Amino acid sequence: MQQSQKTSPNTADSLTDFALSKLASLEEKNQRRYLVDTKREQAMTMSVDGGPPLISFTDNDYLGLSTHPDVVAAAKAAADEYGAGAGASRLVTGNHSLYRKLEEKIATIKGTEDAAVFGSGYLANVGIIPTLVGPGDLIIADELVHTCIHAGMTLSRADVKFFKHNDVAHAAELLSDHRKKFGKCLILVDGVYSMDGDIAPLKALGLLAKDHDAWLMSDDAHALGTIGGGSGSAKETGAEGLVPLQMGTLSKAVGSYGGYLAAAKPVVDLIKTRARSFIYTTGLPPAAVGAALKALELIESDAEMVARPLKLAQKFAYALGLPAPETPIVPLIIGTETEALAASDTLAKAGFKVIAFRPPTVPEGTSRLRFSFSATHRDADVSRLIETCKTLGLRA
Ligand SMILES: *Cc1c(COP(=O)(O)O)cnc(C)c1O
Repeated sequence: MQQSQKTSPNTADSLTDFALSKLASLEEKNQRRYLVDTKREQAMTMSVDGGPPLISFTDNDYLGLSTHPDVVAAAKAAADEYGAGAGASRLVTGNHSLYRKLEEKIATIKGTEDAAVFGSGYLANVGIIPTLVGPGDLIIADELVHTCIHAGMTLSRADVKFFKHNDVAHAAELLSDHRKKFGKCLILVDGVYSMDGDIAPLKALGLLAKDHDAWLMSDDAHALGTIGGGSGSAKETGAEGLVPLQMGTLSKAVGSYGGYLAAAKPVVDLIKTRARSFIYTTGLPPAAVGAALKALELIESDAEMVARPLKLAQKFAYALGLPAPETPIVPLIIGTETEALAASDTLAKAGFKVIAFRPPTVPEGTSRLRFSFSATHRDADVSRLIETCKTLGLRA
């Protein structure tokens, strides 16, 4: 599966030397990454580098909406009407009426007053966090938050303290010890943790945040469209009204591209006025906006579709003796990078695409297969995956 390393020119400049030696040391640790050409079809069928079809159990396309005919048609219609690119930042001339509809739809699904759409989830996090806190302020974050939250925290130059994963008592301790020394305070969590598939205790954290005059923000990248009847982690955990900042992406269950913040109107207005990654970047291609809007309409109207990925994940986990999943993500911890890559290769030979996640994406020694389930997986494919994993000894 690995590409042969392209021979580089015989230059002896320090830049090329740096790149080569850095790549060699990553290669040694099995941490070098390679791109493969992937052709994705419906029902999670795909081919890699023109090879035989594989069933993907690795996508974040939890509802299969990226290839849904209605969503693709909406993308085409938006491109026909508004063009291939936005032409400028949304605040210049890159805004159009589909954006308003999309933001209203997100706010409705999230149960907030308003929403701001960004170019991506990554851009949302690096824009929102520094707009709300800065030097002299405090951030309390779960130790496993997504890497783009780390980027946003660094840019904010606020003081950052981490609590142990999903440990509300530890978060409370940090707040008691430090909150009073700082101005504003943000509490940052992922609604669903992408590498483990577990859910943040948002209700307890939301109450804690209120007690300490802190603002809770959840990153719902893996929760919108998958839990809480599609609304996400706040609804799922009974924390409606306790999470004033709900961000997420339109690139996973929504099947398109873009990021968002759902919040009260004044907060959204401030973000649109001040977040640098909202202002100084070009608006989304109109096709992405049109596709996201259609996909959210499907999420709102098709409860059965939304419920299916979790049901499949539960069936798979139960059959292999793994802990019952709360989300469509099922991790199977393997250990070393080499073993995890080997397991992924073996599954590929059996017709399944399951990516091995390795450090630094996951902690050292916890390289894993991460199975994710989609509404468009066929029952027969899930059954065959279960049988294959059993035969290969991939189980609890
Ligand atoms: C994927 C992901 C993001 C980034 O979203 P993009 O729209 O792909 O940039 C942010 N946070 C979490 C938790 C994610 O899993």
